[in-house]
Amino acid sequence: MNASDPSPRRGTRLAHIGVAVASLEAILPFYREVLGMPEVPLDDADGARIAGLQAGDAVVELLEPKVADSPIGKFIDKRGPGIHHLCFAVDDLEGTLERCRAAGIRLIDERPRMGAEGKRIAFLHPASTAGVLVELTEY
Ligand code: ZN
Repeated sequence: MNASDPSPRRGTRLAHIGVAVASLEAILPFYREVLGMPEVPLDDADGARIAGLQAGDAVVELLEPKVADSPIGKFIDKRGPGIHHLCFAVDDLEGTLERCRAAGIRLIDERPRMGAEGKRIAFLHPASTAGVLVELTEY
């Protein structure tokens, strides 16, 4: 491998699992103290307070709605707390979206948009992905 390669290809990998929670304070001790996962600071996004916990190379993101009328607030209203989405980091976000489009996968974001921590993201519709909301990111 060439160490000076500015964009080494790493392959698609699990970046984080988004979990909708009613209260960060109530569930954080389970992940932090009981399971011993270190907390990583994350920005709030999309009307949610977010706490991150390191799980190997991936992160568990706990998403607590700041307002009821937010995507996470509506999700909890409808389905209760639970796994909200999976996020995969890919080497080429545009290229991956293009392959999704060509494969007939329904895109929520037609083009990458700016997510938290300045990362480009795009969501795929769960109707095309066996009921799982999939987020793609690139880093
Ligand atoms: Zn996410």
